[in-house]
Amino acid sequence: MAEPVELPSRLAILPFRNKVLLPGAIIRIRCTSPSSVKLVEQELWQKEEKGLIGVLPVRDTEAAAVGSMIAPGMGSDSGEKGSGGVVGDSQKQDARNSQELIHWHNRGVAARALHLSRGVEKPSGRVTYIVVLEGLCRFSVQELSARGTYYVARINRLDLTKAELEQAEQDQDLILLSRQFKAAAMELIAVLEQKQKTAGRTKVLLETVPVHRLADIFVASFEISFEEQLSMLDSVDLKVRLSKATELVDRHLQSIRVAEKITQKVEGQLSKSQKEFLLRQQMRAIKEELGDNDDDEDDLAALERKMQSAGMPPNIWKHAQRELRRLRKMQPQQPGYSSSRGYLELLSDLPWQNVSEEPELDLKAAKESLDDDHYGLVKVKQRIIEYLAVRKLKPDARGPVLCFVGPPGVGKTSLASSIATALNRKFVRISLGGVKDEADIRGHRRTYIGSMPGRLIDGLKRVAVSNPVMLLDEIDKTGSDVRGDPASALLEVLDPEQNKAFNDHYLNVPFDLSKVIFVATANRVQPIPPALLDRMEVIELPGYTPEEKLNIAMKHLIPRVLDQHGLSSDILQIPEGMVKLIIQRYTREAGVRNLERNLAALARAAAVKVAEQDCNMQISQDIRPMTASLLDTRLADGAEVEMEVIPMSVNGQEISAAFTSAAALVVDESMLEKVLGPPRFDDNETADRVATPGVSVGLVWTSFGGEVQFVEATAMVGKGDLHLTGQLGDVIKESAQIALTWVRARAADLKLSTAGDTNLLENQDIHIHFPAGAVPKDGPSAGVTLVTSLVSLFSQRKVRADTAMTGEMTLRGLVLPVGGVKDKVLAAHRCGIKRVILPERNLKDLAEVPSAVLSGMEILLVKRIEDVLDQAFDGGYPWKQHSKL
Ligand code: ADP
Repeated sequence: MAEPVELPSRLAILPFRNKVLLPGAIIRIRCTSPSSVKLVEQELWQKEEKGLIGVLPVRDTEAAAVGSMIAPGMGSDSGEKGSGGVVGDSQKQDARNSQELIHWHNRGVAARALHLSRGVEKPSGRVTYIVVLEGLCRFSVQELSARGTYYVARINRLDLTKAELEQAEQDQDLILLSRQFKAAAMELIAVLEQKQKTAGRTKVLLETVPVHRLADIFVASFEISFEEQLSMLDSVDLKVRLSKATELVDRHLQSIRVAEKITQKVEGQLSKSQKEFLLRQQMRAIKEELGDNDDDEDDLAALERKMQSAGMPPNIWKHAQRELRRLRKMQPQQPGYSSSRGYLELLSDLPWQNVSEEPELDLKAAKESLDDDHYGLVKVKQRIIEYLAVRKLKPDARGPVLCFVGPPGVGKTSLASSIATALNRKFVRISLGGVKDEADIRGHRRTYIGSMPGRLIDGLKRVAVSNPVMLLDEIDKTGSDVRGDPASALLEVLDPEQNKAFNDHYLNVPFDLSKVIFVATANRVQPIPPALLDRMEVIELPGYTPEEKLNIAMKHLIPRVLDQHGLSSDILQIPEGMVKLIIQRYTREAGVRNLERNLAALARAAAVKVAEQDCNMQISQDIRPMTASLLDTRLADGAEVEMEVIPMSVNGQEISAAFTSAAALVVDESMLEKVLGPPRFDDNETADRVATPGVSVGLVWTSFGGEVQFVEATAMVGKGDLHLTGQLGDVIKESAQIALTWVRARAADLKLSTAGDTNLLENQDIHIHFPAGAVPKDGPSAGVTLVTSLVSLFSQRKVRADTAMTGEMTLRGLVLPVGGVKDKVLAAHRCGIKRVILPERNLKDLAEVPSAVLSGMEILLVKRIEDVLDQAFDGGYPWKQHSKL
């Protein structure tokens, strides 16, 4: 260990860039720059006895604290100055360019070379030295001057000599400070000892080295900033040095403790999960020992068995195994575990091979089963039989996809399920109503949180066979927005070429949909994208006539409803007359949904009655109307109660048995009113509404089938403006404008100007309203209805209540054909309208209207609007003959 040494008055100076060598510390420097190489050669290498040099900290101007630095004593172009330490070549270049930027510290440390080695730096052949230096004592620079390429300084010794030291050590303050420092240093060593065994050597140091030297040695080993190193170098006074060193040792101790605390925490957590893992392993081993692992066997092993029995194709099996291996490496608490598990569950649940056996198709039996389940629909059933026949002859034929189109409740869904029954296949319904997101069809990618497979794959998982009849319900109700276009995904599904390898985003492996038989339903054809429509064969189901509804109710709905409620015809009878009343007064629909609901309401009321009697065990023998108290409770619900099946069938047997001796309940008109409430519709509605001039009866077409629509017009004092209300689209607004223009243009011919006391055409605002303002309406077919209502208003003549009309009108008064004639005529028929005015060119559409309906109605075909007016008013409409253009 270095003892205080004699220092010469001049020392060759080695600059030490941004670093400080403290007395007692040992450093290793690679000298590469010409000036430092020269210095080493002349001052150290060539001398017999290893000499002393001064190591002076230097730093860049930006970092320099002005004042504490000294400038070089004389300007010299000797080149590099920043050559100390492990400075690289690039820095040397920088140093040359920024000679002025380098500032020398005014204090340094004299150092002795402990070791020197010489090497040749390739490829230029330049010589380099590696020097190991030991710091000895502080000095201050009096003057800096160049000697050749390097600097030499005139110096003053700063550290105390041996004699001075001995004297200083007597100072009480210093003794106290030394003790403090030693205590801190001991503590640090103790802490380090726990961590590594090398601290033993440091302990020896503590006892042998003088305390002021120790302070330097300790601080030199810490990673502290350049500033702090400098201030340590500047602490010439022993007391200052000791207290600074104590502070630094304390700080170092603290940082070690904080770091230790953090590691402990992390280790604690780790060991908890490791502990759990260990315990689980032990539990498994114990169970195995006890032969107890059968019922609670390894979850993943069970999953693997399930996967094996799923019959996946080889490439998918490989993919699944890969995923399983990944899963095995995860802890159940790990994120991603459950998603990965769910994915594998899906893969193993999917029917890769599983199919329902298809026995030889018996067409006759299929026809019978269709007839058994559905009344009427002759043409539709015929088409289905044809479809089945083709399948029988060529089972893998790619027949068209059938698409049943019609209003709600006409039997679209139940026909599709009958197809499944006839083919002995499973049936699955995929509801597409309101689907706007392509991911609903194709699934979300598994990278999304909460991702799921699409509805098709989900449906297949539910039925667990790969060849079901799949009903794509309400295919016209899919929309498209920013989330993609479900219709385009459906295109792929319905394309026999593409659906062999349907790609669900969640599944991420292809699935063969080619064995699935697709059937679609829609309320209307128009909203279905043409490309999709092209893949399907549309079979239209018109609404039913009241007679058909009656038959459906008697033959199908009543038996089914009774059965669902655990009743039989021995307990509840609904006579034909009452069913007719329900059809007329309580429903006004194209299908039979509400009819079925109303029948179910009657059945529920009867079921309550029966159940009540069953409890009291008082079975009366005669026919009784239902007691008021019971039925009154039904009144509150009204007829619009959602149909629900009361689970009576369990004890239905007993109820039926109990009632075999009793006479049945027969529904009568008063029971209808009590259960279903007052009639919701009546045949006089039309007459009541057209009782004032200005109202006419139109026929419109909606997704619920045809409907009767009234048009009301009224006039008031104003500037001749036209006001329209009732949620109208652009087309219908234009129709109204055309109608008003036509009526005004023909006012004289129509003898309107002279009608009444005041002139209705001048200074009058017209307001036309389409009631049921909440329902959006559009389309050109209200043209004739609008003219009729305006003419009725201006002429103050009432329109015939038994006449409804539809037709587009041109500005010149021609009546053009419209769509949905069949549904419109059926709607008129439902409302008890006897006469229907239709454009002449719609004659061909009448062929589709059931003859039973046509026979009870008068169809009036018109070419021009004058013909319409002629038919719409009682006794015809008189106008000037020459007005016909
Ligand atoms: P959609 O799918 O057209 O809306 P559903 O198939 O759900 O209608 O039919 C509604 C109810 O009406 C079902 O219970 C169905 O059995 C019955 N139904 C409809 N048409 C007939 C029919 N022609 N014969 C027997 N029942 C019918």
